[in-house]
Amino acid sequence: MVGPVRLVGIDGDDTLWRCQDLFDEAEGAFCELVAPWASPAELGEALALRESANRPLFGYGIKGFTISAVEVAVDLSRGDVPARTVQAILDVGRALLEHPVEVLPDAETAVAALARTHKVVLVTKGDLVDQQRKLRLSGLGKHFAHVEIVSEKDPATYEELLVTLECPAEQFVMIGNSERSDVEPVLAIGAWAVHVPYHTTWRSELVGEPSLGHPRRRAVASLAEIPALLES
Ligand SMILES: [Mg+2]
Repeated sequence: MVGPVRLVGIDGDDTLWRCQDLFDEAEGAFCELVAPWASPAELGEALALRESANRPLFGYGIKGFTISAVEVAVDLSRGDVPARTVQAILDVGRALLEHPVEVLPDAETAVAALARTHKVVLVTKGDLVDQQRKLRLSGLGKHFAHVEIVSEKDPATYEELLVTLECPAEQFVMIGNSERSDVEPVLAIGAWAVHVPYHTTWRSELVGEPSLGHPRRRAVASLAEIPALLES
């Protein structure tokens, strides 16, 4: 990388700990519960639309997912969904909120190594209580100089973060699994980005054309490669 990177941002969900596959499983459970009224394809599409429409009010996260799922069940069953099914959908959401936190391979080692050479900040998006719980249970908190839990990861969010932390954009690198949240907005403000793939990506985090050839974008196969990349 050209020039010294001083500040390292790291994403949480699907970068440091498992997330999306748990949502995929929850959506599968929801589809089974509501199968008498709609196909999995119909339910998936309706749920995505409803979550998106609800996002300005609910934000990202499990609670918005759960309420949206109940609304879709009521809609697609034309009000016929029984209370016990509604309760079962709520239980699916609660199970997500209570799920053990599974730190991904190499995350602890990589974050610990980075914290020895750089100021490292967690930049994660979603429900405040849930993200705080995941951070606490991950045991990774001690490595972060700063934690930023945001409701959206857009250029303005990153610019505000860099003002707060008094870091010029060219000295900041963001590491994460999402092109839309961790790469694109960071490149847009003149900072660096490192994409670390996760085996499944939430449909809302997909972008049409990733900026693969961007001069400030790097990609690694695993977090284990990051400390050496930042040294180079
Ligand atoms: Mg992520």
